[in-house]
Amino acid sequence: MANEDTKKKVVYSETIELDDLETENKALLETVDQLEEEKKLSDVHVRRMEEETVMLKELFNKTSSELSNLKKPSLLVADVITTDKDHKAVIKLPNGNKFYCNISNEISELFPGDSVLVEQKALNIVKRIDLGENQEVEKFVIMEKPKENWKDIGGLKEEIEEIKEVIELPLKKPELFKKVGIKPPKGVLLYGPPGTGKTLLAKAVAQSTNATFIEVVGSELVQKFIGEGAKLIKEIFNLARRKAPSIVFIDEIDALAAKRMETGTSGEREVNRTFMQLLAELDGFKCLDEVKIIGATNRIDILDHAMIRPGRLDRLIEVSLPDASGRLEVLKVHTKEMNLQKVKLKELSELMENFSGAEVRAVCTEAGYFAIRNDRDHVGQDDFLMAIDKVRMEEEEEDNGGFFG
Ligand code: ATP
Repeated sequence: MANEDTKKKVVYSETIELDDLETENKALLETVDQLEEEKKLSDVHVRRMEEETVMLKELFNKTSSELSNLKKPSLLVADVITTDKDHKAVIKLPNGNKFYCNISNEISELFPGDSVLVEQKALNIVKRIDLGENQEVEKFVIMEKPKENWKDIGGLKEEIEEIKEVIELPLKKPELFKKVGIKPPKGVLLYGPPGTGKTLLAKAVAQSTNATFIEVVGSELVQKFIGEGAKLIKEIFNLARRKAPSIVFIDEIDALAAKRMETGTSGEREVNRTFMQLLAELDGFKCLDEVKIIGATNRIDILDHAMIRPGRLDRLIEVSLPDASGRLEVLKVHTKEMNLQKVKLKELSELMENFSGAEVRAVCTEAGYFAIRNDRDHVGQDDFLMAIDKVRMEEEEEDNGGFFG
């Protein structure tokens, strides 16, 4: 009986132990679940922390680069005046001071007139910048390498010699002027009646010096580009410096440089601003720079004297109507390629009194038309005589105010 009891006790206690173990096991499983849950949470936390660290690092880098940028001294904006073979350039600061500086190797090409950034102390050129200038201006001017040469000009021997001396020689042999120690004019003013060959002279000198010919018409600058005149002048000169050697030809310069009036309408003020800019540009470059200015006018009488003061367009060349021998020379030029038969050019030249070079050329063209209308391939004396009458009549009509005048 006692044994039975003992057995029962053992079984009972074993049952209790098993229950305890199961309970303990359950509790442990719950703890494991809880721990796993906690691990998951802490993983998320760690990931967040990592992301936050990356973000903070980025922020730090950005701020420190901004800080070092702010610590750097600002760069100066300057204009390039000339460059040389040693990768150096003469620059002009806005205060007008000029310096000879190094060009960074990262800049492959620079041209006179370019805008650049330079370091404050060392003044090394670190970057070429585009201020939105120079490109637009090419739309407003005629820019070419002219083909006209001295042989295309009839007569005007003295005028040709003078323009050669003032424009051609300094461009071709600047060292001569340096040696002798004189300053050539920056430009010339050609004046005289219409059609006498002023543009032709300017183009021929551009051709003989292989210079870029940049043509602007004074009246267009003030009428077409209202409010833009002064800016355009500045940009035209920058363009000329970039394309040097170059010749800036300003036709009808009187439209910009007429004697200034005291009372000013807004239109007059605009012309004045453009004119002042033109004077500033003329004063701003050196005589031996590779940019020359040729102004042309039919109205020297109304021209402001400021324009022709020493150091500006101080060489005046009069281009007058040709005399008979001049007209003969012009006739020879324009009949060179024509199929002439028994034409007495000398006699014709004497009949064309008061004709300009342009009118002499018009006579040659008209004479050719008379031949074509008569089914001929050669041009005779009569064709020329009729042509002279026609051109004279047209000129008289124009003087009387044209067909509708
Ligand atoms: P404007 O004052 O009206 O601008 P301009 O004096 O500039 O006139 P040009 O444009 O040079 O005159 O001349 C017009 C054309 O007349 C020339 O393209 C040329 O064909 C002819 N011509 C004028 N003068 C001469 C000349 N001396 N020799 C040959 N051709 C000439």
